Amino acid sequence: MTDQYCGHCGEALDARGHEACAERLRMEPPRFCTHCRRRMQVQVSPTSWTARCVEHGEIVSP
Ligand SMILES: [Zn+2]
Ligand SMILES: [Zn+2]
Repeated sequence: MTDQYCGHCGEALDARGHEACAERLRMEPPRFCTHCRRRMQVQVSPTSWTARCVEHGEIVSP
């Protein structure tokens, strides 16, 4: 499955450049699911984060 939406701003990935978003996503959890654009449920701890889409499951910080 390919990413269709920006995980930071939720816009379509082909709409415009997302370099700034990609930069933010290296530091922060995604706010939107890249597959369905749903709002992610984000849990942040001091050392890691977890972002969950009800449809597509969890993403855990690297
Ligand atoms: Zn973006
Ligand atoms: Zn999703």
